[in-house]
Amino acid sequence: MGILLGCIADDFTGATDLAGMLVEAGMRTVMTIGVPTSGVLIDTDALVIALKSRTIPAQEAVNQSLSALRWLQEAGCRQYFFKYCSTFDSTDQGNIGPVTDALLDALGSDFTIACPAFPKNKRTLYKGHLFVGDVLLNESGMQHHPLTPMTDANLVRVLGRQAKHRVGLVPYDTVKQGEQAIRQAFNSLAEEGYRYAIVDALEDSHLMAIGHACADMPLVTGGSGISMGLPDNFRRKGLLKAEIQADKLPTIEGKSIVLSGSCSLATQEQVASMQQKYPSFKLDPLRLAQGPEQINEAMAWAAPLLERGPVLIYATSKPEEVKAVQNKLGVERASQVIENAFAEIARRLVDVGVQKFIVAGGETSGAVVRALNVTALRIGPQIAPGVPWTTSLNDKPFALALKSGNFGSKNFFQEALDSQP
Ligand code: ADP
Repeated sequence: MGILLGCIADDFTGATDLAGMLVEAGMRTVMTIGVPTSGVLIDTDALVIALKSRTIPAQEAVNQSLSALRWLQEAGCRQYFFKYCSTFDSTDQGNIGPVTDALLDALGSDFTIACPAFPKNKRTLYKGHLFVGDVLLNESGMQHHPLTPMTDANLVRVLGRQAKHRVGLVPYDTVKQGEQAIRQAFNSLAEEGYRYAIVDALEDSHLMAIGHACADMPLVTGGSGISMGLPDNFRRKGLLKAEIQADKLPTIEGKSIVLSGSCSLATQEQVASMQQKYPSFKLDPLRLAQGPEQINEAMAWAAPLLERGPVLIYATSKPEEVKAVQNKLGVERASQVIENAFAEIARRLVDVGVQKFIVAGGETSGAVVRALNVTALRIGPQIAPGVPWTTSLNDKPFALALKSGNFGSKNFFQEALDSQP
């Protein structure tokens, strides 16, 4: 059976978050970095295309989203989902409104919902107003966001300024009555000429009911929370088997390595904890800036040790060390030098038989993923909340655990090694 749910996410971490939720809800999920260039996917119920379209000019976001949609349509998806941030990050110019309009047009559809609610992460919607924890969106700090300052918590108004048509509301009183009442509200709004509905939601049961009411909607839009109810729709239609183990990954042969370029507090503790049991090598940005010598040293050190088991190569440092390096090299050059080093090291590790990479740091992960030519990942079981094991769809697949900054407990690296595919 082909892909059921085709998702377009407006940034990478949002895509990861959504992919993890779909796996948890029972869909075998693959995530691609950008629009896939080729390939037929087997054993895949949901595909999440990660774009970087949240803050680019609206027309570019529209173009990228439409090309993602075309790929998903060709793959035969039954339903489409446009995922944005649960704080509705956007400006009066877009990109949520213009992208939603373009996707609706392309799908020949004239109604969808916009529901960023995610109660587990303290994002709730009441009377069309988005709350972050106990306060309105525009008092949550988001009003000062450098790129998408959110100064109005009333999403009916916010979306109204971005979109071409009328925005309606399905209020809490309706939502709490459940799926049928919500579905009727959608139909009434559509008949009255509304093209989008902001939908109130205070708890997971509301998201489930809203998701169920969206079963026949070609396009659904929202945060990752609203995806919760969608897999059930496919099960009800007999398209998705209940007994599937959605987080199953293929076994990956090869050696394992931990690469750590994050300097977050959590990562510092994780590095210290791993050093108690495993050999480690520290990269020095000042030496890396002078030439490739330290990369050669790291490889000469790692290659024989890897015959016996995993090792750690890291740049993780305390804030004062980072500051000192940045003062000497400049912030950008310091990061560049280290990220380039990790990229080169990752490539050379493959030559000595490493196929499993545990990487700490968002930017560091990006550098490693690019170096390994990874453009698609199958999502597996969670090592820690928000950090799954994944396997790449390369000819010779890699196993990758990509952890940004503050995720994971002190023993994260050991936990990842213990659960590797
Ligand atoms: P996080 O997810 O914790 O933000 P990132 O990898 O995204 O981690 O960012 C950490 C950045 O810090 C990277 O660009 C990395 O190259 C840089 N960095 C790592 N170690 C050092 C260091 N010792 N000195 C200066 N910069 C460093």
